[in-house]
Amino acid sequence: MKPQEICSVQLDYPVQADSGIHGGHISHEYHVRSSLEEDFVDYCTQCGTFSKEETPKMCSRCSASPQKIASVEIAHTFHLGTKYSEALGAKFQGKPFYMCCFGIGVSRLLPATIDLLSVSDKALRLPRAISPFDAVIIVKKSLMSNVIVEMTSSSASRYLKGGILLDDRIEMSPGKRIHEANRLGIPFIIVLANETERSLVTQEPVIEVFTTHPKSADPVDQGSMTLDRFVSFVQSQLYGSYSNLDHLHVLDELGAAGDENGPQK
Ligand SMILES: [Zn+2]
Repeated sequence: MKPQEICSVQLDYPVQADSGIHGGHISHEYHVRSSLEEDFVDYCTQCGTFSKEETPKMCSRCSASPQKIASVEIAHTFHLGTKYSEALGAKFQGKPFYMCCFGIGVSRLLPATIDLLSVSDKALRLPRAISPFDAVIIVKKSLMSNVIVEMTSSSASRYLKGGILLDDRIEMSPGKRIHEANRLGIPFIIVLANETERSLVTQEPVIEVFTTHPKSADPVDQGSMTLDRFVSFVQSQLYGSYSNLDHLHVLDELGAAGDENGPQK
């Protein structure tokens, strides 16, 4: 079974389910592994079948004993067929529509994603697509009115469209603010402090850059770089390997290794 993907979060366990009052022929629940233990799926390590039984006996396909995996259901799809189109007389070229409906559990998706990508309760991790900010710019008091702040913001905005937060809490040290930005899981943390101040007398002022990544609680120090270099760095992170690598990392964590807690693909 091929894993499916949405917003870099793997929908690892599609499970055939009861269509319930919605009717129709087939429905599927979509689960991600979750320590929240909101729900569960049964996974057959022999043939790769996913199922969901209150009292699991054996795999419906190969009779092996399924393994129970704690999960949370984040979506449900229904093949409704012609149940509603026939009732409503909704036709196309004389035939009733074949209908499907797809529901994503937005309120569950957020905690499930955080649970999946975060390894510490002190450092939130979200995919960049749903992170509240793409980047934060932390500015030292003496640089607040310097043109470098505007130049940095402008450079960051060229490729980061998800919002740039200016952290101007100058009463707080840059180090403490980096710590807080890491806790929020902001993907790019840009610091205008001592290094920048020293570099302003040169032709090429620099900024300090940190990044945060899924499955890691600490920020990664990317070093000092010029604004031109920063723009290239952001491009490489966005369109190079950043999102893909993050996703592959999650795939590994979820089961590619075939550990005792998860399925082998
Ligand atoms: Zn089986």
